[in-house]
Amino acid sequence: MAGASRVAVVGGSIGGLTAGLLLHDLGLDVEIFERSGEALRSRGAGIVVLPMTEKYLVQQAADDRVSLQLTWWKYVDGDGRVLAADADKFRFSAWSAVYRALLTKFPHDRYHLNAEMVGFDQDSQSVTARFADGTSVTADLLVCADGLASTARSILLPDVEPAYAGYVAWRGTIHEANLSAAAIAQLADSMLYQVLDLGHVLVYAIPGADGSTEPGARRQNFVWYHNYAPGRGFEEVMTDREGVRRSLSVPPGLVRADLWAEMSRLTAQLAPAIREVVLETPEPFVQAVFDLESPRMAFGRVCMIGDAAFSARPHVAAGTAKAAADAWALRDALDAAGDLAAALAVWERSQLRLGRSVVARSRAMGRRSQVEGTMVPGDPAWKFGLMEAGN
Ligand SMILES: Cc1cc2nc3c(=O)[nH]c(=O)nc-3n(C[C@H](O)[C@H](O)[C@H](O)COP(=O)(O)OP(=O)(O)OC[C@H]3O[C@@H](n4cnc5c(N)ncnc54)[C@H](O)[C@@H]3O)c2cc1C
Repeated sequence: MAGASRVAVVGGSIGGLTAGLLLHDLGLDVEIFERSGEALRSRGAGIVVLPMTEKYLVQQAADDRVSLQLTWWKYVDGDGRVLAADADKFRFSAWSAVYRALLTKFPHDRYHLNAEMVGFDQDSQSVTARFADGTSVTADLLVCADGLASTARSILLPDVEPAYAGYVAWRGTIHEANLSAAAIAQLADSMLYQVLDLGHVLVYAIPGADGSTEPGARRQNFVWYHNYAPGRGFEEVMTDREGVRRSLSVPPGLVRADLWAEMSRLTAQLAPAIREVVLETPEPFVQAVFDLESPRMAFGRVCMIGDAAFSARPHVAAGTAKAAADAWALRDALDAAGDLAAALAVWERSQLRLGRSVVARSRAMGRRSQVEGTMVPGDPAWKFGLMEAGN
């Protein structure tokens, strides 16, 4: 198979698992190495699920889906009046539900937790990944799916670093049992979007923790983009209530109470249903927004996929889809005739193109919303999508 029979995947999130599953299904000898000490079950919140994110699950069996569909994308104003509505039919889920569904399909004894890669060496015959506990593994191909703060990238491209976009997303989820009937009715089959002064907020349903998709048994998820100037403002919001400076996100239960109180005061401008979701959410958290673009993705026997190589702003909702797309394209390239170098060269060309385009589109959206204030409710170009708006 294009000169690779043993594959080590570093990073066992949605990108790493999709790559691991696809290459395992090709008959390759695949192992996944994840830094975290426990399965990443409780991580993250809601995600928009583009077709590529759950392509592996749907292809296995249509009822393996772990997402729900909402018919309407509605823009509302501060009084809750609908300004524009499109029947878009996007799908939504919880990050942990997609992760869990993929994880159960991968051979248990080949998914290693507590395995932090700290470096690697390669030559013309093989590549050896080294781990923090002193162990190592040798393979023909090393797939690095180790996310935005990638160890692999810091070794391969030390000058390429995530660039703070100037704003963060305040986020959280709440069970619908804790919301009023009026709010649930407004959110029943709709994602609500509100354009604010240099900001915006969206709320959408995701399955309940038990997978329920019926209104009343689901959760509602909010994402509220808010500007914090680089420097003091950003430092403050990324410092948790115990004084620890976080690099990418401040987890639930650890955001500073005074900063959340400040956001709570700003909810006066939100539509009633959105305001209720935000204010009733028990444990809001913060994810900072970054741009990341790598000039290369393949380096001999090592490649980088997903957020390790490119990270687009969340407005396109394509992060997991991009990671999965990198994995599918890698599988196709390795499956085609040729040696490893040729396969990776073909793969890198197409995935660099995709990465650049999705980052550029999401950056332009972020600029309009957070800097220029030119985001218009109902704009057909403002849609989630991997390849283009809406796709
Ligand atoms: C506010 C916000 C909203 C978002 N909304 C959406 C959305 O709606 N839809 C969507 O598709 N995406 C969304 N995303 C993006 C999405 O979360 C990421 O793009 C996606 O998780 C990337 O997947 P990945 O597998 O490449 O990396 P990650 O999910 O970051 O996983 C990397 C993994 O590698 C592990 N790791 C790191 N270093 C090492 C190491 N040295 N050794 C071993 N393991 C290591 C980590 O523990 C982690 O498990 C959003 C992001 C943000 C910030």
